[in-house]
Amino acid sequence: MDYSKFFDIIEETIEGDAHLDELAQEDQDPFKILISTILSARTKDNNTREATIKLFSNYHTPKEIANAKVEDLEKLVYKAGFYKVKASRIKEVSKIIDQKYKGKVPDDFKSLESLPGVGAKTANCVLVYAFKKPAIPVDVHVNRISNRLGWAKTTKPEETEEELKKKLPQNQWIRVNRLFVRFGQEICLPINPKCEICPLGNLCPKDFSIEEMIKIKRSKKT
Ligand code: SF4
Repeated sequence: MDYSKFFDIIEETIEGDAHLDELAQEDQDPFKILISTILSARTKDNNTREATIKLFSNYHTPKEIANAKVEDLEKLVYKAGFYKVKASRIKEVSKIIDQKYKGKVPDDFKSLESLPGVGAKTANCVLVYAFKKPAIPVDVHVNRISNRLGWAKTTKPEETEEELKKKLPQNQWIRVNRLFVRFGQEICLPINPKCEICPLGNLCPKDFSIEEMIKIKRSKKT
């Protein structure tokens, strides 16, 4: 299958950039991208954007955030939600970057994933957006769209990442998160995807079986 064709079609269709892509284009600062990715957990792009701008208008380096009072960080990142947890986390991570890595964000998966609160998705986002390295960050959009397209048949992000890595040529990995996030926000929506106007309509098997299975499991629990 020519996977690049799918990405080319999406690239031609969507407008605007998701937050991390925007950040990577305007300011390729790995530390800012790492912190912003931590802030982006379980919130919308607009909230992450606002919290990132506020935080970095007041503090600029790992040392400054590491030395900041956690209460001050909480006020700045409030908009990102879960602000208490996120404020402590970014302080902790900044301290490690400052002391262990001498202020420089590491550019390998293992070191990134060893940071507190940094999972595979965040580590992969930093590799892709900050260092332009081939990786596939799997968030809810990537997971959902990969399943609908029949490229994966999994519920777990780490399994989806493995499936995609086996299928897609490595030179396409870097496009997956950037394009699927915007595509998932605009067309292949979580509820009521716009299949009738989707440019992938003819190529997509519209496989909703995994989502239906999750729905059934949830309804049995309630
Ligand atoms: S046809 Fe529907 S399910 Fe398939 S990618 Fe497009 S919006 Fe998503």
